[in-house]
Amino acid sequence: MERTEPESGNRRRVVVIGGGIAGSLASKSLQFDSDVTLIDPKEYFEITWASLRSMVEPSFAERTLINHKKYLQNGRVVTSPAVNITNSEVVTADGLVFGYDYLVLATGHNDVLPKTRQEKLSQYQSEYEKIKSCESILIVGGGPSGVELAAEIAVDFPEKKVTLVHNGPRLLEFVGQKAADKAFDWLNTKKVEVILNQRVDLSSASDGDKNYRTSGGETVHADCYFLCIGKPLSSEWLKGTVLNDNLDGKGRLMVDEYLRVKGRKNVFAIGDITDIPEMKQGYIAEKHASVATKNIKLLMSGGNEKKLSSYKPGSDIAIISLGRKDSLAQFPFMTVSGCVPGLLKSKDLFVGKTRKARGLDPNIVD
Ligand SMILES: Cc1cc2nc3c(=O)[nH]c(=O)nc-3n(C[C@H](O)[C@H](O)[C@H](O)COP(=O)(O)OP(=O)(O)OC[C@H]3O[C@@H](n4cnc5c(N)ncnc54)[C@H](O)[C@@H]3O)c2cc1C
Repeated sequence: MERTEPESGNRRRVVVIGGGIAGSLASKSLQFDSDVTLIDPKEYFEITWASLRSMVEPSFAERTLINHKKYLQNGRVVTSPAVNITNSEVVTADGLVFGYDYLVLATGHNDVLPKTRQEKLSQYQSEYEKIKSCESILIVGGGPSGVELAAEIAVDFPEKKVTLVHNGPRLLEFVGQKAADKAFDWLNTKKVEVILNQRVDLSSASDGDKNYRTSGGETVHADCYFLCIGKPLSSEWLKGTVLNDNLDGKGRLMVDEYLRVKGRKNVFAIGDITDIPEMKQGYIAEKHASVATKNIKLLMSGGNEKKLSSYKPGSDIAIISLGRKDSLAQFPFMTVSGCVPGLLKSKDLFVGKTRKARGLDPNIVD
């Protein structure tokens, strides 16, 4: 194992684990106040909710895949997953060891993604070619990824036969019934066949045969398929660390109102990995990042703990884009779909806004 020494003697060492929505913003905000190390298995940050558009328009990914070094110019980027945490150090799979004064955990969901931005761009190009060359497409999973992908394909390639199979009783189980019904109806108007309450056996199609059997005895013919099933939290690895007792039964890190891992003074957790009872959304993960970084700055400057900022969950809002113009928005007081809520998300998918929050030009990729 190789220990790394801080570059700037007296600055406090902050290690951020996970360069997703929450971790990218946290490390960017702390870079001029501390000696920041960002640990992530990939060299880039991805605007997750724009990934489905990139599958039908690969060039869209140019703005949504951002090398960590672009927004973290005054920090260290380590491209390797974290595998262990002690009370004072973080160890990566590459065997590097980083001491910390403050630790921020932001590992969100586990996804196997290419290590380099270029590889990820090529992956989108291949997925696009696959969609273009197939007449019929099977989408497995009716959560946000499955619904948004079905919508993107239905709008950009209306001639394709799209079938979405979901094992639950309704689409988009993280939002209300009304929103689920609206998504179902919208997909129907675009001639997407939605099959609910059934599982699809992906091994049932033998070579050359493109017929997939479902648990309900139906057969779906498809030239290709995309798996859009929810990803588990990236917290399993924490079981072998000093934070094992800080995980709840669902593998989420239990935090206090200041977003510190309960019982710990210098360890914070933000984003989807926390146990806060609220919808798991990127805009919420960004709010966590601002509260946690404000608190870390206060503690680093010797501020009074009584002045720490509390995080209070707000109203849950969810917006699901339905192709390039429409979307479905669930607000606390109403649920609407169509081109009016579509103005909120569907054209740019908040890409410009997300880039700007990280100090980058919303439009230009350099
Ligand atoms: C299709 C879809 C549409 C969505 N639309 C919206 C939307 O419109 N608005 C919205 O607000 N939210 C949306 N969301 C939700 C949003 O994407 C998540 O809430 C958000 O990504 C959570 O951010 P995070 O930083 O907690 O985790 P993530 O963004 O998942 O980032 C986790 C990071 O941690 C890294 N990591 C994992 N394990 C390790 C490890 N051991 N060591 C180091 N690094 C590790 C990963 O590589 C990744 O970079 C959508 C999600 C999906 C799937």
